[in-house]
Amino acid sequence: MPELPEVETVRRGIAPHLEGARIVRLVARRADLRTRLPRGLARRVAGRRVAAVGRRAKYLLIELEPATTGGERETMIIHLGMSGRLIVAKDDGTPPGPHEHVAFATDRGAEIRFSDPRRFGVLDLLPTVALARDKRFAALGPEPLSDEFDAAFLERVLAGSRTTLKAALLDQHRIAGIGNIYACEALFQAGLSPRRPAGSVRGARAARLVAAIKDVLARAIAAGGSSARDYVQASGEAGWFQHAWAVYDREGKPCPGCDCGRSVKRIVQAGRSTFYCAHRQR
Ligand SMILES: [Zn+2]
Repeated sequence: MPELPEVETVRRGIAPHLEGARIVRLVARRADLRTRLPRGLARRVAGRRVAAVGRRAKYLLIELEPATTGGERETMIIHLGMSGRLIVAKDDGTPPGPHEHVAFATDRGAEIRFSDPRRFGVLDLLPTVALARDKRFAALGPEPLSDEFDAAFLERVLAGSRTTLKAALLDQHRIAGIGNIYACEALFQAGLSPRRPAGSVRGARAARLVAAIKDVLARAIAAGGSSARDYVQASGEAGWFQHAWAVYDREGKPCPGCDCGRSVKRIVQAGRSTFYCAHRQR
């Protein structure tokens, strides 16, 4: 499933084609993905200029200027779900692929194609002012790459928690955008056990974990994200950070980060695989 670095990579790929451009046409080839597409979507976005392409957690936010003078800005919200792809193509009449459910073209000759074989993706359209109180966004924790996310914040948000550290990192209400892959990688880099009670992470440990999270996410974005299954960049190319995984999906392989001579272990926590080195991570 795409996590923060993959969604940020897609954002960076589509933004130059969309920001300042006008949407000339949107085609929706079915009425729903995971949820129903907004009624009248094609009519509502046609002719609108794109003000900005942002991201919050794992959501892409395509902000549209008002349709009419005195109208309001609206934001198209896209979540890639499990298997979603957002590709920039030339608007040259190429027929849609079998799972290409929505496409929209700009006055600059680009077509953004949203394909999603498993249909866990979401596309919604909301007044921009309503985003902050929307249930998908209202309770989200801060962005891990923001200045707000520092050791003092992490210590505060984990204080008193007896849940495992791994589960706490996946809790989007505490920190937004981190999923299974990057939680495993950050914990390995910080040398902290995924099984440790979250509330025990204080002081130097909190500082180490914050630095590791930011570093892992930044390196993954620089690598175009991780392509394990369906995910590709907006150019259609795979990301390559999966080749830089230290522990994720590497059960039984030699531990790469210490001289422990042991192999990467896999355990299951809350139904998800956790990969770690029991020697390095305490
Ligand atoms: Zn090790």
